[in-house]
Amino acid sequence: MTNEKIPLVAVLGSPISHSKSPVLHSYWLRKYGINGHYIPMEVDTVDLDNVLISMPKMGFIGANITIPHKENVMKIADKISDRAAMIGAANTLSFGSNGRIYADNTDGYGFIENIRQHQPEWHATDGPSLILGAGGASRAVVSSLLEKSAPEIWITNRTRARAEKIASDFGARVKVIDWFSVNKFLPDAATVINATSLGMVGKPELTIDLKPLSNKTLVTDLVYNPIETHLLTQARERGCRTVDGVGMLIHQAVPGFSRWFNVQPTVDTALRDLLLS
Ligand code: NAP
Repeated sequence: MTNEKIPLVAVLGSPISHSKSPVLHSYWLRKYGINGHYIPMEVDTVDLDNVLISMPKMGFIGANITIPHKENVMKIADKISDRAAMIGAANTLSFGSNGRIYADNTDGYGFIENIRQHQPEWHATDGPSLILGAGGASRAVVSSLLEKSAPEIWITNRTRARAEKIASDFGARVKVIDWFSVNKFLPDAATVINATSLGMVGKPELTIDLKPLSNKTLVTDLVYNPIETHLLTQARERGCRTVDGVGMLIHQAVPGFSRWFNVQPTVDTALRDLLLS
């Protein structure tokens, strides 16, 4: 018998049964022979505070946070990374030995690393980026593109006020364009990003016409269910490079796993296949 403590990590959200994070992290735990566990936890908003305070005492060393807690957790954390502060939401927590909670947001990191893995010659500096959507994921994408020196970001959203808020939070390189004028901006966009939930299973299709797009443009979709969205099909038909959303989901998990378990996990094809199966 040993006194070894088994490290625990959970993903907290509501609903949580759809989350792919337990499959993802359990794959790496097995791959690297780590004696730890990663579990899904259904947590109501009213209980979030108490649950997070109790977790370190129960052997948890960290947690992922998903819908609807990503913003609320910012009020509970003791320390917040600069990028999480800019985005206004956190998805990755680490617990100190004293129970202190450190909050980070790794979605933007996952977004950039996914493109780099599949289209290594792409750079955020290639030209203007056009982002559809202004929710939480869009804020993470804006933050990461600016960090990688994107010269200009055009952002458009059905609810214009949310796009205006991002522009005012992130500064002069972010410009708002009208939801119905996207076509005018497509020819000059170096990167086009769908950060809306349109195109996702159960949601309406994203009905943007990509005809004006240059074949030099890279098109990426954050939606990963389905993996092949109508946007990506259209872009490929126009000769554009495309990157789907599954890789972002995998890459955003890397910083958390390496912080919790002291192993930098690799993103391999077997893991991608497992998530898609
Ligand atoms: P969110 O905060 O709820 O934002 C949803 C966005 O979609 C908003 O911009 C919203 O516009 C827009 N939208 C929803 N329904 C629409 C409609 N009928 N017409 C026009 N626009 C509509 O969600 P989020 O967290 O940013 O996530 C956005 C998408 O990214 C989701 O599909 C999510 O699964 C995906 N995502 C993927 C990853 C990954 O790892 N691949 C990570 C994070 C998110 P309004 O502001 O007008 O409502």
